[in-house]
Amino acid sequence: MESHDMHKLYENLLKSIADPFFIISDEGTYLDTFGGTERSLYDDAHLLKGRNIHDFMAPDFADFFMSQVKRALDGSLLNVFEYQLETETVEGIPKNGPGGIQWFEARLYPLPDLYDGKRAVTALILNISERKHMQQRLRDLSYQDALTRVANRRYFFERLSEQLDLFMQDKSPLSVMILDIDHFKRINDTYGHFAGDQVMKELVDVVRRMIPKDAVLARFGGDEFIVSAEGLPLHEMTALAERLREQIHKHLFSFGDMSIPVTISIGVSTVTVFDTDTESIVSRADKALYQAKELGRNRVIRN
Ligand code: GH3
Ligand code: MG
Repeated sequence: MESHDMHKLYENLLKSIADPFFIISDEGTYLDTFGGTERSLYDDAHLLKGRNIHDFMAPDFADFFMSQVKRALDGSLLNVFEYQLETETVEGIPKNGPGGIQWFEARLYPLPDLYDGKRAVTALILNISERKHMQQRLRDLSYQDALTRVANRRYFFERLSEQLDLFMQDKSPLSVMILDIDHFKRINDTYGHFAGDQVMKELVDVVRRMIPKDAVLARFGGDEFIVSAEGLPLHEMTALAERLREQIHKHLFSFGDMSIPVTISIGVSTVTVFDTDTESIVSRADKALYQAKELGRNRVIRN
Protein backbone atom coordinates (compact mmCIF):
# COMPACT_ATOMS: atom_id res chain seq x y z
CA MET A 1 0.00 0.00 0.00
CA GLU A 2 1.20 3.52 -0.83
CA SER A 3 2.18 5.60 2.18
CA HIS A 4 -0.56 8.11 1.32
CA ASP A 5 -3.15 5.30 1.34
CA MET A 6 -1.72 3.96 4.62
CA HIS A 7 -2.03 7.41 6.13
CA LYS A 8 -5.66 7.65 4.99
CA LEU A 9 -6.38 4.19 6.39
CA TYR A 10 -4.97 5.03 9.83
CA GLU A 11 -6.79 8.33 9.85
CA ASN A 12 -10.08 6.63 9.04
CA LEU A 13 -9.45 3.98 11.66
CA LEU A 14 -8.77 6.57 14.36
CA LYS A 15 -11.82 8.56 13.29
CA SER A 16 -14.06 5.54 13.60
CA ILE A 17 -13.26 4.83 17.28
CA ALA A 18 -16.50 5.13 19.22
CA ASP A 19 -14.74 6.67 22.25
CA PRO A 20 -12.73 9.91 22.14
CA PHE A 21 -8.99 9.57 21.92
CA PHE A 22 -6.86 12.68 22.52
CA ILE A 23 -3.19 13.57 22.49
CA ILE A 24 -2.65 16.03 25.34
CA SER A 25 0.61 17.91 25.95
CA ASP A 26 2.20 18.40 29.36
CA GLU A 27 0.91 21.98 29.23
CA GLY A 28 -2.67 20.90 28.63
CA THR A 29 -2.97 21.53 24.91
CA TYR A 30 -5.08 19.06 22.95
CA LEU A 31 -2.56 18.36 20.18
CA ASP A 32 -4.90 15.95 18.38
CA THR A 33 -8.41 14.61 18.73
CA PHE A 34 -9.71 11.36 17.28
CA GLY A 35 -12.79 9.20 17.54
CA GLY A 36 -15.64 9.96 19.90
CA THR A 37 -18.10 9.24 17.10
CA GLU A 38 -20.80 7.70 19.28
CA ARG A 39 -23.22 10.57 19.89
CA SER A 40 -25.29 8.69 22.48
CA LEU A 41 -22.18 8.82 24.71
CA TYR A 42 -20.12 11.87 23.71
CA ASP A 43 -20.35 15.44 22.44
CA ASP A 44 -18.31 16.04 19.32
CA ALA A 45 -14.97 17.20 20.77
CA HIS A 46 -12.99 17.73 17.54
CA LEU A 47 -13.04 21.50 17.95
CA LEU A 48 -10.84 21.08 21.03
CA LYS A 49 -7.86 20.41 18.78
CA GLY A 50 -5.20 23.09 19.32
CA ARG A 51 -6.92 24.45 22.45
CA ASN A 52 -5.75 24.34 26.04
CA ILE A 53 -7.76 22.55 28.73
CA HIS A 54 -7.69 25.69 30.89
CA ASP A 55 -9.60 27.53 28.15
CA PHE A 56 -12.58 25.21 27.90
CA MET A 57 -12.86 23.46 31.28
CA ALA A 58 -13.68 24.88 34.72
CA PRO A 59 -10.42 25.87 36.53
CA ASP A 60 -10.73 23.19 39.25
CA PHE A 61 -11.39 20.46 36.72
CA ALA A 62 -8.54 21.59 34.45
CA ASP A 63 -6.12 21.59 37.42
CA PHE A 64 -7.32 18.15 38.50
CA PHE A 65 -7.02 16.69 35.01
CA MET A 66 -3.55 18.17 34.46
CA SER A 67 -2.33 16.76 37.78
CA GLN A 68 -3.31 13.36 36.38
CA VAL A 69 -1.48 14.04 33.09
CA LYS A 70 1.61 14.97 35.11
CA ARG A 71 1.27 11.76 37.12
CA ALA A 72 1.23 9.63 33.95
CA LEU A 73 4.21 11.49 32.47
CA ASP A 74 6.35 11.65 35.62
CA GLY A 75 5.71 8.03 36.52
CA SER A 76 5.85 6.74 32.93
CA LEU A 77 2.75 4.78 33.76
CA LEU A 78 -0.76 4.05 32.65
CA ASN A 79 -2.93 6.32 34.78
CA VAL A 80 -6.57 5.28 34.98
CA PHE A 81 -9.07 7.39 36.90
CA GLU A 82 -12.76 8.19 36.99
CA TYR A 83 -14.54 11.51 37.15
CA GLN A 84 -17.93 13.08 36.92
CA LEU A 85 -18.46 15.95 34.50
CA GLU A 86 -21.32 18.34 33.86
CA THR A 87 -20.95 18.16 30.08
CA GLU A 88 -22.79 21.45 29.53
CA THR A 89 -19.87 23.29 31.18
CA VAL A 90 -17.35 22.35 28.47
CA GLU A 91 -16.95 25.50 26.40
CA GLY A 92 -16.75 25.79 22.63
CA ILE A 93 -18.00 22.41 21.46
CA PRO A 94 -21.39 21.43 20.04
CA LYS A 95 -23.67 19.93 22.69
CA ASN A 96 -24.76 16.98 20.60
CA GLY A 97 -24.01 14.18 23.07
CA PRO A 98 -26.09 12.80 25.92
CA GLY A 99 -25.93 16.06 27.94
CA GLY A 100 -26.09 16.51 31.70
CA ILE A 101 -23.80 14.95 34.24
CA GLN A 102 -21.88 11.95 32.90
CA TRP A 103 -19.30 9.62 34.44
CA PHE A 104 -16.08 9.08 32.53
CA GLU A 105 -13.01 6.89 32.85
CA ALA A 106 -9.77 8.37 31.52
CA ARG A 107 -6.87 6.14 30.50
CA LEU A 108 -3.74 8.26 30.19
CA TYR A 109 -0.55 6.80 28.78
CA PRO A 110 2.72 8.64 28.16
CA LEU A 111 3.95 8.79 24.57
CA PRO A 112 7.52 7.47 24.27
CA ASP A 113 8.55 10.25 21.86
CA LEU A 114 7.80 13.94 21.58
CA TYR A 115 4.60 14.78 19.67
CA ASP A 116 4.79 18.04 17.73
CA GLY A 117 7.92 18.66 19.81
CA LYS A 118 6.08 18.28 23.11
CA ARG A 119 5.88 15.76 25.93
CA ALA A 120 2.40 14.30 25.71
CA VAL A 121 0.04 11.54 26.76
CA THR A 122 -2.61 9.63 24.88
CA ALA A 123 -5.95 9.95 26.60
CA LEU A 124 -8.71 7.46 25.93
CA ILE A 125 -11.98 8.63 27.46
CA LEU A 126 -14.81 6.17 28.14
CA ASN A 127 -18.33 7.08 29.16
CA ILE A 128 -18.98 4.75 32.11
CA SER A 129 -22.24 6.33 33.34
CA GLU A 130 -24.29 3.19 32.80
CA ARG A 131 -21.79 1.07 34.75
CA LYS A 132 -21.69 3.67 37.54
CA HIS A 133 -25.47 3.79 37.83
CA MET A 134 -25.59 0.01 37.93
CA GLN A 135 -22.91 -0.05 40.64
CA GLN A 136 -24.85 2.53 42.63
CA ARG A 137 -28.03 0.49 42.26
CA LEU A 138 -26.28 -2.70 43.42
CA ARG A 139 -24.80 -0.82 46.34
CA ASP A 140 -28.23 0.52 47.31
CA LEU A 141 -29.71 -2.97 47.04
CA SER A 142 -26.96 -4.46 49.18
CA TYR A 143 -28.01 -2.07 51.96
CA GLN A 144 -31.74 -2.59 51.59
CA ASP A 145 -34.29 -5.06 52.87
CA ALA A 146 -36.09 -6.46 49.83
CA LEU A 147 -39.55 -6.75 51.45
CA THR A 148 -39.94 -3.47 53.33
CA ARG A 149 -37.39 -1.38 51.38
CA VAL A 150 -35.93 -0.02 54.59
CA ALA A 151 -32.22 -0.37 55.29
CA ASN A 152 -30.84 -3.70 56.43
CA ARG A 153 -28.77 -4.68 59.42
CA ARG A 154 -25.47 -4.15 57.65
CA TYR A 155 -26.35 -0.55 56.80
CA PHE A 156 -27.65 0.02 60.32
CA PHE A 157 -24.40 -1.03 61.99
CA GLU A 158 -22.30 1.10 59.62
CA ARG A 159 -24.42 4.15 60.41
CA LEU A 160 -24.55 3.42 64.14
CA SER A 161 -20.78 3.20 64.16
CA GLU A 162 -20.58 6.68 62.57
CA GLN A 163 -23.13 7.99 65.07
CA LEU A 164 -21.11 6.51 67.93
CA ASP A 165 -17.95 8.24 66.67
CA LEU A 166 -19.85 11.51 66.64
CA PHE A 167 -21.12 10.89 70.15
CA MET A 168 -17.53 10.35 71.35
CA GLN A 169 -16.68 13.80 70.02
CA ASP A 170 -19.64 15.96 70.99
CA LYS A 171 -21.51 13.86 73.62
CA SER A 172 -24.89 14.79 72.15
CA PRO A 173 -27.45 12.08 72.99
CA LEU A 174 -27.91 9.00 70.83
CA SER A 175 -30.59 6.41 71.54
CA VAL A 176 -31.70 3.16 70.02
CA MET A 177 -34.94 1.18 70.01
CA ILE A 178 -35.66 -2.33 68.82
CA LEU A 179 -39.26 -3.16 68.09
CA ASP A 180 -40.67 -6.58 67.51
CA ILE A 181 -44.15 -7.64 66.42
CA ASP A 182 -46.01 -9.58 69.10
CA HIS A 183 -46.93 -13.15 68.19
CA PHE A 184 -46.13 -12.55 64.55
CA LYS A 185 -45.94 -16.26 63.95
CA ARG A 186 -49.57 -16.45 65.01
CA ILE A 187 -50.45 -13.67 62.53
CA ASN A 188 -48.79 -15.64 59.75
CA ASP A 189 -50.51 -18.84 60.83
CA THR A 190 -53.94 -17.20 61.12
CA TYR A 191 -54.01 -14.84 58.14
CA GLY A 192 -51.31 -16.27 55.88
CA HIS A 193 -47.74 -15.34 55.06
CA PHE A 194 -48.72 -12.65 52.52
CA ALA A 195 -50.89 -10.96 55.12
CA GLY A 196 -47.86 -11.09 57.43
CA ASP A 197 -45.75 -9.43 54.75
CA GLN A 198 -48.36 -6.72 54.32
CA VAL A 199 -48.45 -6.06 58.07
CA MET A 200 -44.69 -5.59 58.09
CA LYS A 201 -44.77 -3.14 55.17
CA GLU A 202 -47.56 -1.13 56.71
CA LEU A 203 -45.87 -1.12 60.10
CA VAL A 204 -42.73 0.30 58.49
CA ASP A 205 -44.80 3.12 56.93
CA VAL A 206 -46.22 4.04 60.32
CA VAL A 207 -42.82 3.94 62.00
CA ARG A 208 -41.16 5.99 59.29
CA ARG A 209 -43.83 8.68 59.56
CA MET A 210 -43.40 8.97 63.33
CA ILE A 211 -39.63 8.96 63.83
CA PRO A 212 -37.40 12.01 63.19
CA LYS A 213 -36.41 12.49 59.53
CA ASP A 214 -32.72 11.89 60.25
CA ALA A 215 -33.27 8.77 62.38
CA VAL A 216 -31.98 5.51 60.92
CA LEU A 217 -34.61 2.78 60.50
CA ALA A 218 -33.61 -0.74 59.53
CA ARG A 219 -34.99 -4.24 59.47
CA PHE A 220 -32.98 -6.04 62.09
CA GLY A 221 -34.13 -9.50 61.08
CA GLY A 222 -37.38 -11.52 60.99
CA ASP A 223 -40.09 -9.34 62.52
CA GLU A 224 -37.66 -7.02 64.34
CA PHE A 225 -36.91 -3.42 63.37
CA ILE A 226 -34.34 -1.08 64.84
CA VAL A 227 -34.16 2.72 65.03
CA SER A 228 -31.27 4.92 66.08
CA ALA A 229 -31.80 8.63 66.60
CA GLU A 230 -29.18 11.28 67.25
CA GLY A 231 -30.22 14.11 69.55
CA LEU A 232 -32.79 12.03 71.46
CA PRO A 233 -31.93 11.28 75.10
CA LEU A 234 -33.29 8.12 76.72
CA HIS A 235 -36.52 9.67 78.06
CA GLU A 236 -37.42 11.19 74.68
CA MET A 237 -36.71 7.97 72.81
CA THR A 238 -38.82 6.11 75.38
CA ALA A 239 -41.68 8.58 74.92
CA LEU A 240 -41.42 8.18 71.14
CA ALA A 241 -41.44 4.39 71.54
CA GLU A 242 -44.55 4.66 73.69
CA ARG A 243 -46.33 6.79 71.05
CA LEU A 244 -45.32 4.26 68.40
CA ARG A 245 -46.59 1.34 70.44
CA GLU A 246 -49.94 3.09 70.95
CA GLN A 247 -50.22 4.06 67.29
CA ILE A 248 -49.58 0.50 66.09
CA HIS A 249 -52.11 -0.79 68.60
CA LYS A 250 -54.71 1.67 67.23
CA HIS A 251 -53.80 1.30 63.55
CA LEU A 252 -56.19 -0.73 61.42
CA PHE A 253 -54.09 -3.33 59.67
CA SER A 254 -56.03 -5.14 56.98
CA PHE A 255 -55.43 -7.68 54.27
CA GLY A 256 -58.26 -8.15 51.80
CA ASP A 257 -61.36 -8.08 53.95
CA MET A 258 -59.56 -9.33 57.05
CA SER A 259 -58.61 -6.86 59.77
CA ILE A 260 -55.55 -7.89 61.72
CA PRO A 261 -54.90 -6.79 65.29
CA VAL A 262 -51.22 -5.97 65.73
CA THR A 263 -49.20 -4.97 68.77
CA ILE A 264 -45.48 -4.46 69.22
CA SER A 265 -42.99 -4.63 72.06
CA ILE A 266 -40.07 -2.22 72.22
CA GLY A 267 -36.72 -2.17 74.01
CA VAL A 268 -34.95 1.19 74.33
CA SER A 269 -31.36 2.03 75.23
CA THR A 270 -29.09 5.03 75.06
CA VAL A 271 -25.38 5.50 74.48
CA THR A 272 -23.18 6.15 77.49
CA VAL A 273 -19.52 7.14 77.74
CA PHE A 274 -18.76 3.51 78.61
CA ASP A 275 -19.95 2.28 75.20
CA THR A 276 -16.96 1.57 73.03
CA ASP A 277 -18.75 -0.52 70.43
CA THR A 278 -22.12 -0.61 68.69
CA GLU A 279 -22.97 -4.12 69.92
CA SER A 280 -23.23 -3.12 73.58
CA ILE A 281 -25.85 -0.43 72.88
CA VAL A 282 -27.89 -2.76 70.70
CA SER A 283 -27.61 -5.63 73.14
CA ARG A 284 -29.01 -3.42 75.96
CA ALA A 285 -32.02 -2.54 73.80
CA ASP A 286 -32.38 -6.23 72.96
CA LYS A 287 -32.40 -7.19 76.65
CA ALA A 288 -35.06 -4.54 77.31
CA LEU A 289 -37.12 -5.95 74.45
CA TYR A 290 -36.81 -9.42 75.93
CA GLN A 291 -38.12 -8.06 79.25
CA ALA A 292 -41.04 -6.38 77.48
CA LYS A 293 -41.95 -9.75 76.00
CA GLU A 294 -41.56 -11.48 79.35
CA LEU A 295 -43.81 -8.95 81.06
CA GLY A 296 -46.67 -9.66 78.68
CA ARG A 297 -45.87 -7.83 75.37
CA ASN A 298 -47.43 -4.64 73.93
CA ARG A 299 -45.15 -2.51 76.09
CA VAL A 300 -41.98 -0.42 76.14
CA ILE A 301 -39.05 -1.13 78.44
CA ARG A 302 -35.95 1.02 78.63
CA ASN A 303 -32.58 -0.13 79.75
P1 GH3 B 1 -42.96 -12.82 69.94
O1 GH3 B 1 -44.14 -12.10 70.46
O2 GH3 B 1 -42.22 -13.53 71.03
O3 GH3 B 1 -42.10 -11.95 69.15
O4 GH3 B 1 -43.54 -13.96 69.00
P2 GH3 B 1 -43.30 -14.11 67.46
O5 GH3 B 1 -44.23 -15.17 66.97
O6 GH3 B 1 -43.38 -12.80 66.78
O7 GH3 B 1 -41.79 -14.55 67.47
P3 GH3 B 1 -40.98 -15.59 66.66
O8 GH3 B 1 -39.57 -15.10 66.67
O9 GH3 B 1 -41.24 -16.96 67.19
O10 GH3 B 1 -41.56 -15.52 65.20
C1 GH3 B 1 -41.25 -14.52 64.30
C2 GH3 B 1 -41.93 -14.94 63.03
O11 GH3 B 1 -41.70 -14.01 61.99
C3 GH3 B 1 -41.43 -16.27 62.52
C4 GH3 B 1 -41.34 -16.09 61.01
O12 GH3 B 1 -42.14 -17.02 60.35
C5 GH3 B 1 -41.90 -14.73 60.78
N1 GH3 B 1 -41.22 -14.02 59.71
C6 GH3 B 1 -39.90 -13.71 59.63
N2 GH3 B 1 -39.67 -13.05 58.47
C7 GH3 B 1 -40.85 -12.93 57.83
C8 GH3 B 1 -41.23 -12.35 56.58
O13 GH3 B 1 -40.45 -11.80 55.83
N3 GH3 B 1 -42.56 -12.43 56.24
C9 GH3 B 1 -43.48 -13.03 57.05
N4 GH3 B 1 -44.74 -13.03 56.66
N5 GH3 B 1 -43.13 -13.60 58.22
C10 GH3 B 1 -41.83 -13.56 58.61
MG1 MG C 1 -42.10 -11.20 67.18
